[in-house]
Amino acid sequence: MGLRRATVAALCLLAACTGINPDYDPTRTHHRPDRFVNLSGGPIDKPLSDLLRWWWERSRDGLPKPPSAFVDGYRFPVDQPDLAWLRANRDRVSVTWIGHATLLVQMGGLNILTDPHFSQRAFPVQWLGPRRKTPLPAELAQLPRIDLVAISHSHFDHLDRDTVHALIAQAGGQPVFLAPLGVHRWLRDEGAARVEAFDWWQSRQVLGLRVDFVPVHHWSQRSALDRNRTLWGGWVLRAPDFSFLFVGDTGYSPDFAEIGARFGGVDLAAIPVGAYEPRWFMKDQHIDPAEAVRIHRDVRARRSVGIHWGTFELTDEPLDAPLGALPAALDAAGVPRGDFFLMRHGETRRLPFQPTQDPKQ
Ligand code: ZN
Ligand code: ZN
Repeated sequence: MGLRRATVAALCLLAACTGINPDYDPTRTHHRPDRFVNLSGGPIDKPLSDLLRWWWERSRDGLPKPPSAFVDGYRFPVDQPDLAWLRANRDRVSVTWIGHATLLVQMGGLNILTDPHFSQRAFPVQWLGPRRKTPLPAELAQLPRIDLVAISHSHFDHLDRDTVHALIAQAGGQPVFLAPLGVHRWLRDEGAARVEAFDWWQSRQVLGLRVDFVPVHHWSQRSALDRNRTLWGGWVLRAPDFSFLFVGDTGYSPDFAEIGARFGGVDLAAIPVGAYEPRWFMKDQHIDPAEAVRIHRDVRARRSVGIHWGTFELTDEPLDAPLGALPAALDAAGVPRGDFFLMRHGETRRLPFQPTQDPKQ
């Protein structure tokens, strides 16, 4: 460890131990001297007893609770992306689902990754933690050179250190990282040279796109000492011909009606639909499919795509539960099924995102 890294590590440890939020701005309502909080409902800071109750109930009841098509060897089909087309494409809007919260979005002549995760486990070490249950449809090095990376928050299933290092080392130079406050410091410490830090409702041009960082209802943590010390949120990316909202992770909140009012709708929203049971524990931090449909309406998305499912088994519902729960939620809300779709891993859709076939057939 060099002197600079040692100094940074010592300062970070000092900040953690003394409870300092280095990005604290007393004029912002969601800032506290020692952390960030949500605009509605304060911080998510569940007592350890809740976590222990969830784990105890899991071990008592066994998993998965409902019968699932995913058990007994069933696996999701994985598409082979048309990599030559993706590498050549610079003018068509396209979206490719890599898995979990990772999307390759092509818009504004740019190749954009959301919460890029190309590792086998969503954990700091690769011998422990939630394992990838559905294989990667492509390696990072097979994709076109990435121009822009949007990070939603610091949780391990969204911010993967090995993937960040691979992006920093990619041929053709580093991408620009869009980072919530605090996450920008982590990225720079890992070697990222082109980092754009954003607070909620900040807006600026990046690589020709209008970029806005928006509040969602969640939390952050990577270690025992840094809970809610870095910010979380969603990204609105706008090119002249296409607008895209990446929600990241969230519970349901009034933030989404506000996003809908401020932006007047988006062409496509990527909204989480998985990792939501048991509700007594998850509701404050992860929406279920019915709440995802509410957000689709609140933000006035012309189309939405479900993410954050079918890849890492993080919670109690079966990995394939959103396949049934999302269409049921759409029907109950009177939203056409084609307006909020699920994709196969590796599948690419091009504007205007009309479903070419039923997903997961
Ligand atoms: Zn999270
Ligand atoms: Zn997550």
